[in-house]
Amino acid sequence: MSTDQNAGRVAVITGASSGIGAATARALAADGHRVALLARRADRIHALADELGKGAIAVAADVTDRDSVVAAAARVQQELGGADILVNNAGVMLTAPFTSDQREEHWRMVHTNLLGAMTTTEVFLDQLRTGAGGDLVNISSVAGRVAPAGFAAYAATKWGMNGWSEALRVELQPEIRVMVIEPGAIATELSDHITHPDSKKAAKDVLEWAIPPHDIADVIAFAVSRPHRLTLNEILVRPTVQAM
Ligand code: NDP
Repeated sequence: MSTDQNAGRVAVITGASSGIGAATARALAADGHRVALLARRADRIHALADELGKGAIAVAADVTDRDSVVAAAARVQQELGGADILVNNAGVMLTAPFTSDQREEHWRMVHTNLLGAMTTTEVFLDQLRTGAGGDLVNISSVAGRVAPAGFAAYAATKWGMNGWSEALRVELQPEIRVMVIEPGAIATELSDHITHPDSKKAAKDVLEWAIPPHDIADVIAFAVSRPHRLTLNEILVRPTVQAM
């Protein structure tokens, strides 16, 4: 999927320890990009960096901790020469009715999914500006468009990401392309961390027909491989059996 103009760029992927982030790291590395794998679970990202080999580095970082993101950016600058692509993928989905007693989980989703992406972008912005043309890829969700019961806080983070990305596009393009990817049901570990029993059961039932994370990774790899003169602004990708 790579084009000559895009191969060999440096991609920073948050939440690269599992699911869509890990699959994206594999897809971008296969296309010839060098990749910086960011996540909290150091063992996972080190194993993936070993698997990907030369040009892949593992950088333990928590997107809710600005100091750790700043330290990660310094390593990316020092070891890979700076980022050309930032994939804001780190996220948690701790669905539960908003009226339930799960305030900490609601706030954690906002801190991780929305404020974490904003922090990471702000920290890496200078690096994205310095190359031949940067790419910002924000992983939103179908839940940035459709909000079933139990998704109030999660949908707020993804709706927020969509609105933030729309405004960023106006501010940052043409220098930095801003792309929003809105996956439907993808078979990952995302629902493992849900604590509300009914919400967890509903999310687990979806895994019966969810599609694999490399399907989304392929779309991301395609989007960043397009010539800089065009931008795939917003891409909604759902399993064919998922109509809404
Ligand atoms: P996973 O649970 O497999 O991956 C989530 C990733 O986010 C992990 O690598 C995790 O790493 C990382 N993460 C969580 N909190 C933090 C943090 N504070 N700092 C740094 N990294 C963090 O789920 P998915 O791959 O499915 O999720 C990836 C993204 O895709 C999320 O933004 C999610 O909302 C979105 N999405 C997923 C869909 C799905 O159906 N699966 C559908 C639509 C969107 P670690 O714990 O090691 O820090």
